[in-house]
Parts: sequence; structure tokens; C-alpha cells
Amino acid sequence: MPDISDRDEDIDIFTREFFDTLFQGNETCEDTNLKTQINDLKEAALTQKLTRPIIALFSRLKSLLETKTLSPKAFGLSRSDLTALALKHENIDEHDVSVGGRVCKALPIVEEAIARVDDYLLAKTEQAPSGFELWDSIRETQEKIKSYLNMTEDDWNSYSGQIKHCIDSVEDLSKVIDLPEKVIREVTHVTRDYRMRLTPYYASLIQASAANDPILLQSVPTGEMVDNVGIEIPPVAADHSPARLIDQFYPRVVTIKATNMCAMYCTHCLRLAHIGKKDRIYTELAYEEALDYIRSNDRIRDILITGGDSFVLPNKILKKILTSLDEIDHVKMKRLGTRIPVTAPQRVDNELLDILAQSNDKKPVRVVTQINTAQEMTPMSGDAFKRISKNVFAVLNQAVLLKGINDTQIKMWKLCETIQENYVRPYYLFNCSYRNPQFTHFRVPVEKGRDIIESMYGNISGDAIPRYIATAGGKIPLHRGNVQGNANGDIILKKPWNGEVVNYPDADQSIYENETFAFMKP
Ligand SMILES: *Cc1c(COP(=O)(O)O)cnc(C)c1O
Ligand code: SF4
Repeated sequence: MPDISDRDEDIDIFTREFFDTLFQGNETCEDTNLKTQINDLKEAALTQKLTRPIIALFSRLKSLLETKTLSPKAFGLSRSDLTALALKHENIDEHDVSVGGRVCKALPIVEEAIARVDDYLLAKTEQAPSGFELWDSIRETQEKIKSYLNMTEDDWNSYSGQIKHCIDSVEDLSKVIDLPEKVIREVTHVTRDYRMRLTPYYASLIQASAANDPILLQSVPTGEMVDNVGIEIPPVAADHSPARLIDQFYPRVVTIKATNMCAMYCTHCLRLAHIGKKDRIYTELAYEEALDYIRSNDRIRDILITGGDSFVLPNKILKKILTSLDEIDHVKMKRLGTRIPVTAPQRVDNELLDILAQSNDKKPVRVVTQINTAQEMTPMSGDAFKRISKNVFAVLNQAVLLKGINDTQIKMWKLCETIQENYVRPYYLFNCSYRNPQFTHFRVPVEKGRDIIESMYGNISGDAIPRYIATAGGKIPLHRGNVQGNANGDIILKKPWNGEVVNYPDADQSIYENETFAFMKP
């Protein structure tokens, strides 16, 4: 009688193949320890009502074949013993998963997948610390800054206090953080041409001991900005503003640039030409003209209120603009562009949240922010985003790909995961623009950004992966095609996470074009 169980036909193909390989091993083993071990595993698999001991036995048998070329027979296990256990496993499992499927397919896939994030998990705290992880040190810096700037607790906790005590001179900056003499000289030189303004809160996120701190790089202008001055391409507004305060290059979405002020001025600001030169208060008439343009163009459905930073606007003006927009029938939704939750989270007060909630009740409001490094996400900004997210339809992030700030796989994964854990969804990742020569030193090659974005597929949650965009008279997606070609009606696709190439049968062109649905047939 061949040693094949009469129930062999009941097991699936994966399990049968698995057993065929297992029983090719050697049938004797002298190691009594090992024999006892296997016997214990067998007893557990037989007596317990769980799947786990059965999988433990089979996994061990698989590894003993692979490492020592031993057959189950070496431990007195026959094929029919194993078949019985395999069927027991299938019976217990709600989804009838077979031993072969689990041990030979599923577990190796999981093992390979887990290994893909090993490097990230090991390095993410050290290479890309979040503001949560640095909070103790940030708190210490905050205490120092408060005392240098003579800020009371109330000053610190209020938006007006943050703005009143903002750091806009090299003297203030060097008081609050220890900077090398050379940096101070350089910043003095540069700030003659470029405006600097940090809220004390934002300055407290700087880790002065770190070389190229990502907060410092984003907020303190450096020598490169002056060295790089060259031919400046006219600012976006020059060729995209059909009406006062309005930018438009899409048929149904327009932006209202409602202010030229920001709580903090970014060194990589696309709107460098308007923003942060001189604060300007816009008249009510200016807003009315912008609203009139929207009123008289009934194709426009989505309004992006931006700036500058839209949350810099007093609540009264924000409310007025939102209410006016909600009254326009063809306007269906609104967005507010703001970096304030990361630069001055104190601004996010209940009155502002009520305004957002009321407008969101009428038509969806999305808040679009800009967070470029996990270091900007702290318990304070996280709390601001949580409260905003409870009152609006969505909170989205538009990051800029910046050298030294977020241009590695680890830094970008960490950024996207950290913001998502704090109620913010990655939306766009912009390749830093060629338009302003002042930030040539921040630019990252397009291909490098693609590698980073591609590395995210299959490794982090899909809704934490931003779309990679070049701005060149509109937003142009830069995603690499995973489509390698065609073969006999199959599309050849490459898996971004391991490069494996798979054939994907395409829809049948002639069925698609010629067949009607059964119920439509005569
Ligand atoms: C970015 C932008 C928009 C919005 O683009 P989406 O792709 O809808 O996010 C609209 N108008 C202008 C002028 C813009 O710069
Ligand atoms: S918040 Fe936006 S508009 Fe303001 S300086 Fe930064 S990038 Fe420019």
C-alpha cells in the first residue's frame, strides 16, 4: 500500500505540493532532543482546538526540511497523519484556509513584506524625529524663549502674543537659539533682502544642536538666497490673475489671494514676490471685486481662499468671505490654505472653529495646509489639526520636496505617517519650483522624488501617499508609469514595492466595444 491517505484528494493543491516536497527528505534522525520537540508540537497540534499549534508544527517541519533535509518520517509522522492535521486546520479556519496556503504562501509573503519596512522602523526616530518625539527638548527651548522675549504664559498661549513677540531680527534670533557666529553674519546679510519672521512657537521647534535643522532651513534665510539671485521668472499672479485677488487657470477652481501675510515666512515660498515684503491690509472693496468675479462666472464651483495664509485673516473677514461664497448658488465647496496650525497653532480658537463648522454645514470646507517635516507635528499642532478635522470635511497637506528637509525615503514616510496619525491627509508633494532662483539650493531632482513616492506603494497606507506634482502653469502629475508594455492582450505591470513583473490580462476589447448587456439584447 502506498503511504497516501485515502483523504489525500480532500486537501488542496498547495498542501499536496507541500507534502510531496516534505516527504522527499531523509527518513532517519538521531537527534533525540529534536524528536522530543517535534513530538510535543505534534501533541499540541492534535489536542488543542486552535490553528496556531498546527501551523507551528508544519512551519517547523518545513524549516527542518530546508535546513537539515529531514522528512516528517524521521519523526514517525506519516503522510496520513499530516493529512488528518491539515484537514483539522481547514475545518477550524473560518475561511477554510489550507495548511499549504498558510505555511507556503501567506507566511512567506508576510515575511517578505515585513522585511521591507525594517530599515524604516529602525531609523525613523533618529533620522526623522517628530515634534512629539522631541517634545521634551522643545518644551525646554520654549521656557528659554519665553524668558528671553519676556513673554507671559498668556502671551505664549495667544495668537496675538505670538505675533507681537515674533522673531524678525538677527538679534532676536541669536538671543533665542545658539547659532554659530558665521551663521549670524550670513543671516544679517541676507535679511537685508529677505524678510524673516518666526513665531516664538515655531522657533522653539528648532533643534539648535542639529546640523541643517529642517525648521531652521525653512524659516531662516541663508546666504544661498542671495548668491542664487539671477533671472527671476515673473510671479504666478502676473500671468494667471484674471481679476483682482483672483488666480485662475482651471475652469472650475479659482483662488482668492485674500492676504499677503503669513505668521511665519518660508524660505522656499513660491510667492516670495508678494509675500513677506510688506504686510498689506486689503480693503473690503477688493474682496467684493473678487467675489463679483466668482458671482458672474457660474462655472466656478470650488474656491481656494489662500494668501499668504488665510488664517491670518481676522475671524470677521473670514466669516464674511465664507458666508458670501455660501450664498452663491454655483459655488459648491471651499478650501482654506493655511500653515498656521504648524506655525502658530494658538490661532485655532473656538471662534474660528465655529466659523469653519457653520460654513462646512452649508457646503464642504477643506483646510489645506503645508507640513514638510515630521518635526513640525507636535502635541500642539496635532491638537489644532484634531480640532479642525472635527469641524470640516477634510484636512489635506501640500508638502514641498526640499533638499535636506524631506528628501529621503525615511523622512518622507515619517512625514506622511505622522501627519496622517494627526488627522491630516497627504494630498500633494510639489517638486520645488524652478521659477525662483533664490531657492535653487533646495531643489531635488524629479527622479529622486519619484523613487521616494514609489517606495511608499505597498508599504504604507494608501491614503498616506501624496500625488507628486510639478508646478508649471498648472499642476502636472509626475507619477512614474508602472506599465512596462503589452503582450498578447496582457498589460505588463511592475510592482513598485519589489520590482516583480506581472502580467495583467486586459479587458477584452471586442466584448467591451461590441457586446451589449443581456437585458438590452433584443
Ligand atoms: C493649486 C491651485 C488650484 C487647486 O488645484 P487642485 O489641483 O484642485 O488642488 C487652483 N487654482 C490655482 C491657481 C492653483 O494654484
Ligand atoms: S505659508 Fe505659504 S504663502 Fe506663507 S510664506 Fe510659507 S509658503 Fe509662502
